[in-house]
Amino acid sequence: MLILEGIATSAGISKGITVKIDSHDDTPVIKAIKDTESEHIRVEAAIHRAKTELSELYEKTLSDAGEEVAAIFEIHSTMLEDEDFLAAIFNNIDTESICAEYAVYMTGNQFASMFSGIEDDYMRERAADITDLSKRIIGILTGHRHNPFVGLTEPIIIAAHELLPSQTIQLDKSRVLAFISRKGSMNSHASILARSLGIPAVAGLENGFDQIQSGDYLIVDGMNGLVISEPDNETLDSYEQKLQVLNQETLRLRSLIGTKAMTKDGSLIEICANIGHSDECLQALEMDADGIGLFRSEFLYLESDDFPDEETQFLAYKKVLETLSPKRVVIRTLDLGADKQAPYLQIGEEDNPALGYRAIRICLDRTDIFIPQLRALLRASIYGKLAVMFPMITSLLEVKSIYTLLNTVGKDLKSEGIPYSEDIEYGIMIETPAAVMITDRLAKEVDFFSIGTNDLTQYAMACDRMNSKISYLFDSGSVSILRMIKQTVDAAHQNGIWVGICGESAADPNLLPYYIAMGVDELSVSSPKILMLKENIQSLEKADCIIQCAEYLD
Ligand code: PEP
Ligand code: MG
Repeated sequence: MLILEGIATSAGISKGITVKIDSHDDTPVIKAIKDTESEHIRVEAAIHRAKTELSELYEKTLSDAGEEVAAIFEIHSTMLEDEDFLAAIFNNIDTESICAEYAVYMTGNQFASMFSGIEDDYMRERAADITDLSKRIIGILTGHRHNPFVGLTEPIIIAAHELLPSQTIQLDKSRVLAFISRKGSMNSHASILARSLGIPAVAGLENGFDQIQSGDYLIVDGMNGLVISEPDNETLDSYEQKLQVLNQETLRLRSLIGTKAMTKDGSLIEICANIGHSDECLQALEMDADGIGLFRSEFLYLESDDFPDEETQFLAYKKVLETLSPKRVVIRTLDLGADKQAPYLQIGEEDNPALGYRAIRICLDRTDIFIPQLRALLRASIYGKLAVMFPMITSLLEVKSIYTLLNTVGKDLKSEGIPYSEDIEYGIMIETPAAVMITDRLAKEVDFFSIGTNDLTQYAMACDRMNSKISYLFDSGSVSILRMIKQTVDAAHQNGIWVGICGESAADPNLLPYYIAMGVDELSVSSPKILMLKENIQSLEKADCIIQCAEYLD
């Protein structure tokens, strides 16, 4: 038996067989070779195999999803016939004396950047196809495939060097018992995702991680940050008992469904759910959410190999709005960048990605991406109660630029005869210190604020939210952050708008008395946390909270 200690990033306990998956960085190792001819043969064999796979995929998709979706695999197959592509791979092998996998990687990048530079939209979109194809061929050559479930019928524990959001979102979560990783922290998006799905996770296992192998039987204890490999009978028994206690606790909390999130002295707070996928809204309703406080729309972008088009987005937003109606759904516009990278966006290397090209900065720069999203949102608005929220705001100018675009989109839809609701609420995330300092002005421009304590803490404390070494600094309960929240709540209320918190600290029972004392209107948390939060609210008195927190909030 081996016990490893890491960071408990998503509560719960799971037991099962482990499958180790590769790190997200699938750049193949560059190997110098002498025998270029055998590398040519390897490439030809891999391409042949890729063609067989693609035709199988085509047939399967044709019967599951129809011609239009299946067509992509036909296009990929045709691309594999391209003699220039093959000639360029051979040329890279010969001139650089490098192995087949690295030559495919180089050629894929060269062709992808050539396609992305072409004026024609259709041709430009082929860049992502080239990248996808190269990955398939590299996977065949290296033997490292992307699907960890191949050949398995039982759910598994996923072990990865580092779990990135794009990787996590693409896994079939119904077959994942738990996540464990060498790197990662409480506030990385993969951890947030695991929490919102209710899948136990332990990150930051560092050196001990190498001792875990595919096929190992593990207990993942997401309450205490422990991973136990090949547990003895005594340990198995004690975890069996812990699981029973957890299940009873879940049943007990379920008795709160239908009750109000009201303090003993009558202060009501809305408890909403954070979701990353339209499918999660059912779980939110089951847990009695008052609405969706944060739909991270970027996960729609991360789960596909190319930009989701207007129609795909419209259908996803419509589904959530219809399911939740008449409850409010806050959909946040695209927040890609930093740790949420979509390869097809090709942001490129940045020295400080968290301070870089992300979220609203991308959207205001790339209106070709932003406008389809705004159109999809407006079109979906007639199916429920929509609130649209914009991330990473730092200035009034950004808000004004957004409104200019929204006006154009609204006019276009009208002239096309496409209906949309006139009652959409528009709000912003308060997650940069710059925004906090101008909340008095921003509040006059928008219908609501939602405080993103994850990024606010990262930026205000100058503390990378992904870096587990300095996680002691990442304290959303520090007086600095509490004062920023208070300033935001006061500015909102003075201007007659509502204010919520949708960062992870919204579910922190230790901070709840502060939020109640300040008068926060809404808390948005992952669905598995809703009932626990409701129970905590019902146990407190606002008057007590105000006295208890006064010294920190004055
Ligand atoms: C936040 O920053 O608190 C937030 C909710 O957004 P995200 O975690 O997606 O950056
Ligand atoms: Mg954020």
